[in-house]
Amino acid sequence: MASRVYDASAFYAGIPFASPEIGLTTTVIFEEIKHIKQRHGALDTLLDTDRLRIKDPLKSSIDVVMNAAKKTGDAQKLSKADISAVALAHEIKGNLVTDDFAVSNLAKNLGLQVNPIMTKGIKDVGHWIHYCVGCSKEFSGLEFCPNCGNKLSRRLLKGKSL
Ligand SMILES: [Zn+2]
Repeated sequence: MASRVYDASAFYAGIPFASPEIGLTTTVIFEEIKHIKQRHGALDTLLDTDRLRIKDPLKSSIDVVMNAAKKTGDAQKLSKADISAVALAHEIKGNLVTDDFAVSNLAKNLGLQVNPIMTKGIKDVGHWIHYCVGCSKEFSGLEFCPNCGNKLSRRLLKGKSL
């Protein structure tokens, strides 16, 4: 069983095309990346040679990941495609191949193995605190302060949060 899951950033970085291993991705991600024109032939080859398979996560897996994203504060920064990649990796207990900080942070908080594309890796795990520079209050899952209307700033609080 293939255990590598590619998110969109992995495709943009060209990883699936350079790897001999079998990898999985979801329909939404495939729809997002298939326009990369210079990769058209390469994508067909990956599918034809069974090095790329498309599998969609169950609704229950998406729910688990969405709940975790709300807790870490990554939810606002993640697309439906991002969530689907983490949900699939969670469901098959696979390695997530990603170049995206928020995706990686969320996956690590869920205890998933992440294969970062950047050579320096992503060491910082934590959860995002959103705070108002006006009243110094902290909020989660909000973009604007409900008290003053300021756009909330955010900083990463280090350490596992879940
Ligand atoms: Zn405020």
